[in-house]
Amino acid sequence: MIELKDITKVFRHKNRITTALSGVSLYVPKGKIVGVIGESGAGKSTLIRCVNLLERPSSGEIYVDGQNLTQMSESQLAKARRNIGMIFQHFNLLSSRTVFDNIAFPLELDKTPKSEIIIRVKELLKLVGLEEKANDYPSKLSGGQKQRVAIARTLASNPKVLLCDEATSALDPATTRSILSLLKEINKRLDITILLITHEMDVVKEICDEVAVISDGQLIEQGTVADIFSHP
Ligand code: ADP
Ligand code: ADP
Repeated sequence: MIELKDITKVFRHKNRITTALSGVSLYVPKGKIVGVIGESGAGKSTLIRCVNLLERPSSGEIYVDGQNLTQMSESQLAKARRNIGMIFQHFNLLSSRTVFDNIAFPLELDKTPKSEIIIRVKELLKLVGLEEKANDYPSKLSGGQKQRVAIARTLASNPKVLLCDEATSALDPATTRSILSLLKEINKRLDITILLITHEMDVVKEICDEVAVISDGQLIEQGTVADIFSHP
């Protein structure tokens, strides 16, 4: 479903050159949850941002749902990106909009009729367990509730894949577990393929089918969770 082929990303900043990714190849099968784990500065964030071309790779190819994103025009890419949802550590909600209106936002951009928006947002509120919070503003919500809103908002566009960029790193352990179980439910019930990056071992152990370890811009190990963590 997601395939990265020999991705290299070099940043040129003033007169300094940083190779953030070097020859990274990664395959995320349809319906699976794959995690990439590594220390700070290893290249995780660059890697996940390359998948939807928020960051353009210096070389290599990116396929999502059989389409080569690296060869697309901007308008083709804008269309392809609708298949790719993304959630972040800091939620990125619109503070001036209610929970309902945050979730409705991508649908409004798509010019979905108002009556359909209402039905769809209600479904999504139910899915993430926030029906009671529809008219609250994000500032009134806990971190876990904010992440639920962000998840509902990204699901509004019916993505086939979901990218999770340290999605639980700002949350306490109990809230982390509840968000991870919601992600697992979304994966199973909606058949959404998930790629997540994290620096937390517990996160990958809890929900990933497969895991890759990144260090200094290179994938150094890849396998099932049991393979990777059963080493002496
Ligand atoms: P320093 O020399 O103190 O590292 P830099 O200005 O090069 O200062 O940037 C600080 C760090 O943040 C560096 O490791 C750099 O590679 C990284 N960095 C710079 N710009 C960005 C950015 N837009 N997004 C993420 N990281 C960045
Ligand atoms: P991680 O997410 O694993 O902490 P990153 O992908 O953020 O790692 O960073 C990998 C390397 O690339 C680091 O050396 C970082 O400083 C550098 N880097 C990331 N973004 C930029 C940028 N926009 N400009 C320059 N350097 C960057």
